[in-house]
Amino acid sequence: MSEIAAEVTDLLQGLIRNGCINDGTPGSGQEIRNAELLAAHLHGCGLEIETFEPVAGRTSLLAKLEGTDPSAPALMLMGHTDVVPVDADGWQRDPLGGELVDGVVWGRGAIDMLNLTAAMAVATRRLAASGRRPRGSLLFLAVADEEAGGALGAGWLAEHATDAIRCDYVITENGGVLQHTPAGERIGITVGEKGICWCRVIVHGTPGHGSRPLHSDNAVVKAAEVVTRLSGYRTAAHITDAWRRWVAGMGFQPEVATALVDPARIWEGIDALPRALAGMAHALTHLTVSPNVIRGGEKTNVIPGRVELEIDIRKVPGQSDEDVLEFFDTALGPLRNDVTIEVIQRDDPSESPADTPLWDAITRAATAVYPEATCIPTLTPGGTDARFFRAMGIPAYGMALYSRDMSLEQFSAMFHANDERVDQESLRLTAELYGAVAKALLG
Ligand SMILES: [Zn+2]
Repeated sequence: MSEIAAEVTDLLQGLIRNGCINDGTPGSGQEIRNAELLAAHLHGCGLEIETFEPVAGRTSLLAKLEGTDPSAPALMLMGHTDVVPVDADGWQRDPLGGELVDGVVWGRGAIDMLNLTAAMAVATRRLAASGRRPRGSLLFLAVADEEAGGALGAGWLAEHATDAIRCDYVITENGGVLQHTPAGERIGITVGEKGICWCRVIVHGTPGHGSRPLHSDNAVVKAAEVVTRLSGYRTAAHITDAWRRWVAGMGFQPEVATALVDPARIWEGIDALPRALAGMAHALTHLTVSPNVIRGGEKTNVIPGRVELEIDIRKVPGQSDEDVLEFFDTALGPLRNDVTIEVIQRDDPSESPADTPLWDAITRAATAVYPEATCIPTLTPGGTDARFFRAMGIPAYGMALYSRDMSLEQFSAMFHANDERVDQESLRLTAELYGAVAKALLG
């Protein structure tokens, strides 16, 4: 096994074992443990290291290799150090054990995204330790709190440490999985993401005695209808340029490709795709609506007067919160008068241009490994910290590089799920990709 794979593996195992689980409460995460582990790894090779701690224990780390030419571009590698909660019952191995079994590292965060954070740290350390100063500066930012929206991590830094994190290009999660299409091999580089508009829907009824339900105004019964209508409503397709480019790049059969970019026929296209791609295709072309939390009712013999729903709604680039409110009006019809809607959390969709020097550097490095493959821009339905940098006008892409052992289906299915794991070959490829991109871009 290569030295670089061993180094990334070792660091990744440590990051997993620290178990910086972010459950959304300010006291959780305690990413200070991973920040300290990374600081120890990066120590002693000429990097300037700074930490930020907006709340006790919620530490983010910034390491900087100062370039020789202030006018040359600066590249940031940004990885988060927190992970989502985990239920060990569904796992074949200890989710916080960081076990290495037959060349595969197991554990929460092995894919999202401690694998990339470890690879970034190793690429940064190696460039600094080489003694060769690039013209442009390399920044490595290990942030807390990504899994709860970044308010105590990248979001906080964007607001309170703007100058420290200023750069010209950002690489973060995700991307770099090899896909086999009828037109050949493709590698997706993530250039944009959907926006969120998470809503609380309060369904109003009238309390009464459970023994006489006829003509009652039961909030639970109404909520059932609200959930059915919201989740069953087929929102209109919204086709973006990035989507068109992705469809063109994937080499689908002509009739499928045509349907996928035609709002009137898009369901023909989606239904023709394999399951994993269909969910992705739907999400990247539609306002999606997923009712995920329901709270209501107090007692078996009391007709409830109130039910609360929490709905995960996500907007395609080009859609706004107004589109979300319009959706509620249309989908609920007269029931709209029986509910109150509050926006709990929101963020705009974001997209970076795909014609930048960073794009060129990444595609060159990726195709040096997979000469048969073509890189195509893609959007992600989830949210990442890239959006804070896109809002500052800085191009931010999601990119890594995976081995041929990683299929897109397997990759997508492991996020926040059971048996998260990554092979060491992917760790090596990712660290080498980051190193190659930094060298090419920074000079
Ligand atoms: Zn992540």
